[in-house]
Amino acid sequence: MKTVLLHTCCGPCGFSATKFLNGEFNIKYYWHNPNIQPPEEYEKRLNVAQKLFSLIVDPVRDTVSRCDISNGVDDYNEKEWLLKIKDIAKQKDKRCAECYRLRLMMTAQKSKELRIDFFSTTLLISPYQQHDILKKTGEDIARQVGVNFYYYDGRPNFYKNLNEFKKSGLYTQKYCGCMFSKNEK
Ligand code: SF4
Repeated sequence: MKTVLLHTCCGPCGFSATKFLNGEFNIKYYWHNPNIQPPEEYEKRLNVAQKLFSLIVDPVRDTVSRCDISNGVDDYNEKEWLLKIKDIAKQKDKRCAECYRLRLMMTAQKSKELRIDFFSTTLLISPYQQHDILKKTGEDIARQVGVNFYYYDGRPNFYKNLNEFKKSGLYTQKYCGCMFSKNEK
């Protein structure tokens, strides 16, 4: 069976994507979400994902991010994610496209480094994300990095799986991730 490195954005989406991909792939989960704000929210989502999955976390970036979170400041967000997003923060389409690109690029590079057959993302199960942009971004990055992107459309069972996840009593987030999305909500 082939292996997929699955960028995991949160517990509920990871749960749903696992139900979709299980049996087809050996799944390895990869956590890289410097878009999540504020730091307490980042911690909550990471904790849920860690309870559910054995996550691969980038040793350098995760240490930086979590270390700074304990001090109340997500330095990684400020220095890298926010810096890259700030000029387009108010243009939702552009901002999200760049947010996808940053996270999928890291996942693709990690899949290359670990020699994993495919990379993909749990974002593809969410009807709240811009699915076509995600698909194109994954395909473009795959060509650029020289790895395989696995595209799937997991949206049809999203609400059914979300209801099942909620029965676990684990935390379910109320907004996409960044402060802009929190304010827009
Ligand atoms: S709304 Fe979601 S996808 Fe868009 S920039 Fe914010 S965290 Fe990223």
